[in-house]
Amino acid sequence: MIPAEEALEVVLREAGALPAEEVALEDALGRVLAEEVRSDRDLPPFDRAAMDGYALRAADVAGAPTALVVVGEVPAGRWPDREVGAGEAIRIMTGAPVPQGATAVQPVERTRPLDEFRVTILAPVAEGANVAPRGSEVRAGDLVLERGRLIDPAAVAVLASAGRARVQVGRRPVVAVLVTGDELVAVAAVPGPGQIRNSNGPALAAQARLAGAVVRVLGLAPDQTEPIAAAVAEGLKADLLVVSGGVSVGDFDLVEPVLAGHGVSFLFTQVAIKPGAPLVFGRRAQTLVFGLPGNPVSAQVTFDLFVRAALLKMQGARVLTRPRVTVELLGPVKNRSGRRAHLPARVRSEGGHLVARPVRSQGSGDLVAHARANALLLMEAERTQAEAGETAEALLLGRYLEDDGATP
Ligand code: AMP
Ligand code: MG
Repeated sequence: MIPAEEALEVVLREAGALPAEEVALEDALGRVLAEEVRSDRDLPPFDRAAMDGYALRAADVAGAPTALVVVGEVPAGRWPDREVGAGEAIRIMTGAPVPQGATAVQPVERTRPLDEFRVTILAPVAEGANVAPRGSEVRAGDLVLERGRLIDPAAVAVLASAGRARVQVGRRPVVAVLVTGDELVAVAAVPGPGQIRNSNGPALAAQARLAGAVVRVLGLAPDQTEPIAAAVAEGLKADLLVVSGGVSVGDFDLVEPVLAGHGVSFLFTQVAIKPGAPLVFGRRAQTLVFGLPGNPVSAQVTFDLFVRAALLKMQGARVLTRPRVTVELLGPVKNRSGRRAHLPARVRSEGGHLVARPVRSQGSGDLVAHARANALLLMEAERTQAEAGETAEALLLGRYLEDDGATP
C-alpha cells in the first residue's frame, strides 16, 4: 500500500499532456486553455464614461450649482467631434469616449436642464470622477489569461474581448468506462433477487465528462474472464480506461489478471486511503488504466482524487486537485481504518470561517450520504478521532449545496 500523495505523484507523472487543438470560442467552455492570451489593445480602449451625464471640467463646477453651456452629445459607439472648453459641458452616455478637455463626468441625477442651451450642475464633482481612463484595466500586450486555465464564462468574456474567435485548447481525453459485476443490472431494469442497479457506470461517466473527457461507455461485464477481456481490449483504444469493480482479492475479482493479460503494467494496486484501498493504476502504451473499487462511494472518491487529476493534466490544466480548506468540525468523526480517511461533510461559512457538519453515512456503499456532502474531511491515519470544535482539512467537491441544517 502506498500513501495517497505518492499515488497522486505517480498518476501525474504518467499522465502526459495531449496535443492542443483549435476550437471556436462558442465551443471553448469547459476546455483548458493551451496558450497564453494577451490583450490586443488597451482596456478600456479610450477614456470611457462610466455614467450617463455631462462631461465637463471639474474646476468649472467647484462652486456648484453652476450653469454650463451644452455644446454637444456623445452616445456610446461615437467619437466626440469637439472638445469641452471652459464653461462648457457635453452630454455623454455610459460607455462613450470622454471628449478632450473634460476631466470628469457628472451623473445626470446631479444636473437639471436650465434652458434649451444650458444645464445646471447641482454639485461639484472630483477630477476623474466617472471616467475609466484608457488602459486603466489592461495595457495592450498584457497577459490576460494564463495557459492551463479552465475556460469558464469569465474567461470566455476575456477571450471575446481580446478578439479570440478561435482558441487553442487541450484535446479532450477519450475515456472508456467499463463496469464489472454479476449482480449488476441496467438502470432501466428492475433488479431481481440479489441484483442491484449499475450506478457506477453513469456516475463515473458523469465525473469524466465534468473533467472534460469524451466518454465511451463499454457497458456491463459479468465476473467472467472472456467478457471482461473483450471489453478491456476495446477500452485500451481510449486514452484512459476506467474499470469499476472486481479489483479486490475475492474469488470473482478478475480485473487485475485480465489487465495483466492485455499487457498492462501496474504502477500500484493498493493505496492507503479509505474509502478505496484496492485501487489499481497502470498503463499500456499511451493508455492509462484505472481499476476502481466497486463500492459506489469508493469509486466516486477514488475517481475524484486520481482519475480526475489525470484527465485535467492530460488537458494541460494547472489546477489538478480540489481546493483544500481548513474547517471547524461541528460534530465528532472517527477513523479507525489505519489509512487516510475521506469522510463526507457539508461545509459552509459561518461567522467568517468555514465549518463542517459530518454527514451521517453507512460507509462506502452509501451513495446517498455521499450526494449530501459537498466536501471530504481528511483524517490522516494517525488521527483516529476528532471532536466538535477541533479543526480539520477538507477537500471541496465543487458542489455548491446550501447547508440548510435539516439534511441528515
Ligand atoms: P467489488 O469491488 O466488485 O467487490 O464491489 C464492491 C461493492 O460495490 C459490491 O457491493 C458491489 O455490488 C458494488 N458495486 C460494484 N459495482 C457496482 C456498480 N457498477 N454500481 C453499483 N454498485 C456496484
Ligand atoms: Mg464485484
